[in-house]
Amino acid sequence: MVFQAQKTRYQSMHYRRSGESGLKLPAISLGLWHNFGDTTLLENSRQLLQRAFECGITHFDLANNYGPPPGSAERNFGRILAEDFLPYRDELIISTKAGYTMWEGPYGDWGSRKYLIASLDQSLKRMGLEYVDIFYHHRPDPQTPLQETMKALDHVVRQGKALYIGLSNYPAEMAREAFRILNDLGTPCLIHQPKYSMFERAPEEGLLDALRENGVGCIPFSPLAGGQLTDRYLHGIPPDSRAASASRFLNPEQITDDKLSQVRQLNALAESRGQKLSQMALAWILRHDTVTSVLIGASKTAQIDDAVGMLANQHFTAQELATIETILAQ
Ligand code: NDP
Repeated sequence: MVFQAQKTRYQSMHYRRSGESGLKLPAISLGLWHNFGDTTLLENSRQLLQRAFECGITHFDLANNYGPPPGSAERNFGRILAEDFLPYRDELIISTKAGYTMWEGPYGDWGSRKYLIASLDQSLKRMGLEYVDIFYHHRPDPQTPLQETMKALDHVVRQGKALYIGLSNYPAEMAREAFRILNDLGTPCLIHQPKYSMFERAPEEGLLDALRENGVGCIPFSPLAGGQLTDRYLHGIPPDSRAASASRFLNPEQITDDKLSQVRQLNALAESRGQKLSQMALAWILRHDTVTSVLIGASKTAQIDDAVGMLANQHFTAQELATIETILAQ
């Protein structure tokens, strides 16, 4: 049956401006790192995208290497896009990235002009798109001159293959230098994508300031620490969870007794606020004005519903924030 999005889809989502740009993003965006490769049933991936869009989540985040295998998330997304979402293309913000290993040899990795331009062309083909809305450099390259990488990003915007540019995993000082180069080129950086959650707070040490001072937006990835900042692991490791899967990014050894003790206390605090821990963890990130959107992952549509439910309570008292700090300091 042809997908027809409900007319109510824009009624509850909040949209926030990315830095000082003209672009607004939904407070919650959906990432396709897990659950969109060839090891997931296409119908499950389709349900996730449809549910997200019905909830007003207009932003889908990809990268050349998402899968497994690398490239398959873009290919599967392209198929679902063609079958379900083409009438809605102008309602969507689709991003992709290049920066990690994608193909063999010296031109399939890092940050050269050669790699970035070739990779974006491949991504567009896999997704069946003429352009992406945001093209990211996925990680800094210590060997390629920053000027070359930024000029390649500026180039793809001038070619019309990307509308905006983003950077991911750049530390604060390097990000500042990249913003300066991009401003000089006339293609300001739209957004930065760092890892940020209650368990991963490095962006508080300079990066968030750099973004605010430069009018650049922020879309933190893994805001639930891959599922640790939810009720997922409170009673053991469910067989269908990321920790139990073959993912090398979360394994049972990371879910220590100390971490579980923190999660239980955070969970109790969330309950006292009338919300789930996952919802409190997302609201805690969105309390920063600099943050445009939180970039979640989901394996089930109910997890998308949970995230959207967060919008009902984003306020924290000073006492609640202090309690969170006390728990995280343990
Ligand atoms: P999260 O921290 O949001 O983790 C998502 C996982 O948490 C889900 O797949 C699910 O795992 C679990 N989960 C989510 N909601 C709930 C809930 N309500 N209750 C219980 N469990 C829940 O983000 P990800 O680590 O998935 O990253 C999100 C996106 O960020 C990626 O898809 C990608 O787009 C981007 N990213 C970017 C990177 C970069 O270098 N730029 C690196 C990594 C990610 P389960 O399978 O157990 O159900």
